Amino acid sequence: MDKQPNFQIDAYHGVNPSVCDSSTFAFSDPQTMKATFEGDPTGCFLYARHSNPTTTALGQSLAAMEETEAAVITASGMSAITCALLQMCESGDEIVSSRTIYGGTYALFKNIFPRFGITVRFVDMTDHEAVKSAMTERTKAVFFEAVSNPLLDVVDLSAIGAIAHNGNAQMVVDNTFTPYILTPTKFGADVVIHSLTKYINGSSDCIAGAICGTREFCDALISVSSGMCMLLGPTLDPLRAASIHKNFGTLDLRMIQHSRNGMHIARYLSHAGMKVFYPGLEQNRHHKLMVSQMNSHYGFGGMLVLDLGEEATARQYMIRLSDAGVGIIAVSLGYHKTLMSNPGNSTSSEIPEKQRDQMGLTTGFVRMSMGLDQDIQDVAEKMESAWKAVSK
Ligand code: PLP
Repeated sequence: MDKQPNFQIDAYHGVNPSVCDSSTFAFSDPQTMKATFEGDPTGCFLYARHSNPTTTALGQSLAAMEETEAAVITASGMSAITCALLQMCESGDEIVSSRTIYGGTYALFKNIFPRFGITVRFVDMTDHEAVKSAMTERTKAVFFEAVSNPLLDVVDLSAIGAIAHNGNAQMVVDNTFTPYILTPTKFGADVVIHSLTKYINGSSDCIAGAICGTREFCDALISVSSGMCMLLGPTLDPLRAASIHKNFGTLDLRMIQHSRNGMHIARYLSHAGMKVFYPGLEQNRHHKLMVSQMNSHYGFGGMLVLDLGEEATARQYMIRLSDAGVGIIAVSLGYHKTLMSNPGNSTSSEIPEKQRDQMGLTTGFVRMSMGLDQDIQDVAEKMESAWKAVSK
């Protein structure tokens, strides 16, 4: 079989994968080009919307982390979710989804998928009977966030995996909040999605996503005739893929530090009397389940939710923390500085009020993505005094 001329990853023995800045790739004979188009595994790159050496290298690192055979890189977490699920479903099919998910995903499922004949049934993923009852013979996927946005509900991966597989559906897990902390494939996940925008890149300077799965599924996603990634075209630029890949190199250490800070703040503030949602707290209703599933070396993560009661109090609290230099009022997560938002009015605002009430999500919540601060005790004390000031 023909070898492609003039290309190898790490052609110059660089410590980072070389950036391949090409949208198209040369073949030395048309026959190999034909075979590549027809899906024959020639090992050749064809066109960068199909695959690119730099994004492929990033995909290999993510697949290694998630213990999958392969991964496809996309231009956003949303496009990763869209492409993965559209690859599995056709008109008339159904998806069972957790109701506590990122608001954008919720809106996609509620407002867009039905336009293509795909019905999404929203359930409480911690209620296994509800999940079973929502399954039908048309259910192709069971979708949820391993640790949910924003309530930090922890899903029992093995139990949901068994329910999905009994119904011949695939378990699709969005692991954006917990890279390294959870490895959903160990518990039966078929596909693991990431918004690379968050912890994996970690510098809040770009949007990107990934779909980790079997070689067969990833090949299907980039099929020239029926692949959702190939044909819908959410391709990540190789320069950006290279910069994400470099940041990925420190993800394990960053996760440990985010978790250390999350745990410190959760313990300190709950001891001070604040209402804190954090799976690392022993009194948290998901604590035991989290302990049984997590890779304990990485801790419980850097996300926590504070219940300030009233929306106005939550707003005042964030302004005080911002003024004190503790954090930035911004959506998103996984940055080296603390980010905070009021999920009911931002990242979860797409979820109808009635559903939010059922989930227990109020506008008095403040979602915190704890940064990488060294002096976390100083942060804790400032957070406590801001709370005392706004609760007077
Ligand atoms: N999944 C989760 C859990 C998220 O929080 C988000 C965004 O906030 C997404 C997916 C979407 O990712 P992106 O913004 O990279 O499209």
